[in-house]
Amino acid sequence: MDIIFYGDKATMHQRSQPMDRKMMREINQNTLLNLIRTHAPVARTQLKKLSGLSMGTIVGITTVLIEQQLVVETGVAESTGGRKAGLLEIHPEGGYVIGIDLWENKITAALLNLHGNIIYKEIWSAPLRDNASHAVESIASGVEAFISHLPIPREKILGLGCGLSGSVNPHTGVSVDNWQLNWHNLELSFPLMGSLNMPVFVDNEVNCFASYEKLYGNGQKYHNFLLVSLGRGLGMASVIRDEPFRGGQGLGAEFGHIPFDVNGRLCECGNRGCFEAYIADHGIYNTYLELCNEPASVKAGEVNAATIHEVYERAQSGDARACKTFEETGVRLGIGLAVLVNLFNPECIIINGGEGHWVNLIQDSMKTAMQEHLFSQMGSNLEMIIEHNPTRLNWARGAGCLVLRDFFSSPAQLS
Ligand SMILES: [Zn+2]
Repeated sequence: MDIIFYGDKATMHQRSQPMDRKMMREINQNTLLNLIRTHAPVARTQLKKLSGLSMGTIVGITTVLIEQQLVVETGVAESTGGRKAGLLEIHPEGGYVIGIDLWENKITAALLNLHGNIIYKEIWSAPLRDNASHAVESIASGVEAFISHLPIPREKILGLGCGLSGSVNPHTGVSVDNWQLNWHNLELSFPLMGSLNMPVFVDNEVNCFASYEKLYGNGQKYHNFLLVSLGRGLGMASVIRDEPFRGGQGLGAEFGHIPFDVNGRLCECGNRGCFEAYIADHGIYNTYLELCNEPASVKAGEVNAATIHEVYERAQSGDARACKTFEETGVRLGIGLAVLVNLFNPECIIINGGEGHWVNLIQDSMKTAMQEHLFSQMGSNLEMIIEHNPTRLNWARGAGCLVLRDFFSSPAQLS
């Protein structure tokens, strides 16, 4: 019987408990599903080399996965003995997940297949802000309507992923503090599970996006990477050893609320001088106001990407104060990124620039400031990727990836 040990083998031997056959089969099935997902199209002989499992185990599990339509045999390859070997990949229509992104008083929803592709999408208005007591009811009724429009049977849906801003505990499914929607300690996942009768996963939207990056996006090839998102807030997710890192309460990696200037601007969170108060949209606009000798009086949510785009256009036309605004923003972000690199020593930082073309204007000062503050040789192999995501749809896809990540790591759910 095959047993897969994860991590350090000596440690696992010491900690290992007696496992029944079902649990071992689930672990082996999990291993094969993930290898098929990441190496497709892949032959069983290749799976044997990659997993260390016996060919009998591989044939048995893949036969069941094909019967369940979770894996499909797509082609053939020459095996070493001259015989044709079937090539396996995840069946994209084997199951579906729903991802929703809660944003101001709107919900963006996407249906994804097992390849993470968006099959169907909708956006609808929902009274979410200042309305915590009816939020679950509103979300559930909207999702039920969405499901009724889908071109697939309900039983094919594996679960719902829900992404939102602010501080979220993914273990308890609670929106701990959401300043955008004015929710505090609002339980989401368990009541939604009860209403929708399906697994529900809730997380901060940047953590959701990092799940997408790890499964299907630019994070696939990195074991350790950071995702920093710019826009209404300053968000961050960290993936350490291929897993999201969140700390003890699940609230960790709040880059936006690390103090940059302890006597500085008041942040939406109530603290003073957070990086977010300088690098989020309203922070950038306040910098511009200060350079125009006006008070930095704009609060979070009072300006949007369009406002920053106007400052960007002024910079493009040579406005010195607008140019200085982006230069200073770059310096501040560069210092912040140096803090992160010195802490985490990531292989890559992905910067999600949201809707903003202005990110191009901060790159030089950002890189210079970061280099000046990096410890030792931290930056020697660091890769940086800058992305733009002009619609909220990609955030909904990220939320759906919470379910897909769980699906590919919890084979017990397949039954
Ligand atoms: Zn703050």
